[in-house]
Amino acid sequence: MRLSRYFLPNLRETPKEAEIVSHRLMLRAGMIRQQSAGIYAWLPLGLRVLKKITAIIREEQERAGAQEILMPTIQSADLWRESGRYDAYGKEMLRIRDRHDREMLYGPTNEEMVTDIVRSFVRSYKDLPLNLYHIQWKFRDEIRPRFGTMRSREFLMKDAYSFDIDAAGARHSYNKMFVAYLRTFARMGLKAIPMQADTGPIGGDLSHEFIILASTGESEVFCHRDFLDFSVPPADTDFDNAEGLQALFDRWTALYAATSEKHDPATFDAISTGKQVSARGIEVGHIFYFGTKYSAPLKATVTGPDGQEHTLHMGSYGIGPSRLVAAIVEASHDDAGIVWPDAVAPFHVSLLNLKVGDQATDAASLRLEKALATRGFDVLYDDRDERPGAKFATADLIGSPWQVLVGPKSLAEGKVEVKRRATGERELLSVEDAVERIA
Ligand code: ATP
Ligand code: MG
Ligand code: MG
Ligand code: MG
Repeated sequence: MRLSRYFLPNLRETPKEAEIVSHRLMLRAGMIRQQSAGIYAWLPLGLRVLKKITAIIREEQERAGAQEILMPTIQSADLWRESGRYDAYGKEMLRIRDRHDREMLYGPTNEEMVTDIVRSFVRSYKDLPLNLYHIQWKFRDEIRPRFGTMRSREFLMKDAYSFDIDAAGARHSYNKMFVAYLRTFARMGLKAIPMQADTGPIGGDLSHEFIILASTGESEVFCHRDFLDFSVPPADTDFDNAEGLQALFDRWTALYAATSEKHDPATFDAISTGKQVSARGIEVGHIFYFGTKYSAPLKATVTGPDGQEHTLHMGSYGIGPSRLVAAIVEASHDDAGIVWPDAVAPFHVSLLNLKVGDQATDAASLRLEKALATRGFDVLYDDRDERPGAKFATADLIGSPWQVLVGPKSLAEGKVEVKRRATGERELLSVEDAVERIA
């Protein structure tokens, strides 16, 4: 991609409305634009990150056996009356009337709709277990939309829903998502800690929020420090092995970790003081086992091996990709701008031609652009007729993990400069070695 032609509306000034660093940097880098309160347009750079995040989520959902569908954003109020949530949901739900005066709504979540789909097709225990997920825009009329895409009104959510014949099956399904979540966040360069979360009126201990520690987080959290050094389950984890998954779950929940709603000061104080972490955190995912809460009122049943009707046991599993973009920036930036982890970076390499129009730098830049593209890297080639200082600032702001600086001086000695954004480390290398270094 040529920067001279790329739609990258960088802001010079720090936007006044942005209270936290991720919001400021996402606006300054030209990733998003607010269209109404809590409603954002995603510009090319931001959309690239969002797509990288959803690609990782998809891979890990599929690995854990979930299947992708796509449900609509607009839902019928009738379905929500069946579950009893239409009135209970309150002002967070955006309610709409169509031309026939039918009551509709913009979905804040999809338990009812997915249960309706499953009840209309699934009749036998042989069709279970089943886990269906989608990645779709949600709307919640938040009282205080703020912090950019961290807490917006329209936001993207990956929501998965599992269906099992009994509680033991549902437990296995829950553990699959638990492990998938550990892998998903780790692949994005985040340390997300599963914390006991409120299960509300349903009770039980099967709900976890995945929280990343950040001073600007809206949740107050308490956990054991050792969580930060836990290693995540590998890609070849056997998701069909119920005992193996349970053992992973047990290990990851053996130490104390809770949000303020579930906080037990006595247990926390028993942790040696050096290991106590009392911090703020961002909820990036939330998984929940809720049994027959929706399947019972919606009459979603299957015939079991015993010939009897069984009400389905369900769980739901959410991740906020649009919140994650902000959370990653919150976790990974410096004074000059964003520092993208490799796996979610919009571009791997910012290629800076420091003297556009100079035959040597133009030719070397072109060679680098081709060689890197051939190796599958996303390259943003800064071919603008700008001062080097402006190019450095843009590259640091948008945070590509690698920068390659092509200037006439070093090039006279056959060298270009390779800079690692995260550490600032620089190396003078030949064009060939520069490509090798990045690969
Ligand atoms: P919060 O406590 O932050 O309001 P929630 O508990 O209401 O979130 P869930 O219903 O658990 O959210 O939704 C699943 C995921 O969707 C959350 O873990 C979060 O990542 C994301 N999410 C929820 N609300 C928003 C929002 N307003 N903006 C962006 N992402 C959101
Ligand atoms: Mg909420
Ligand atoms: Mg919450
Ligand atoms: Mg939640």
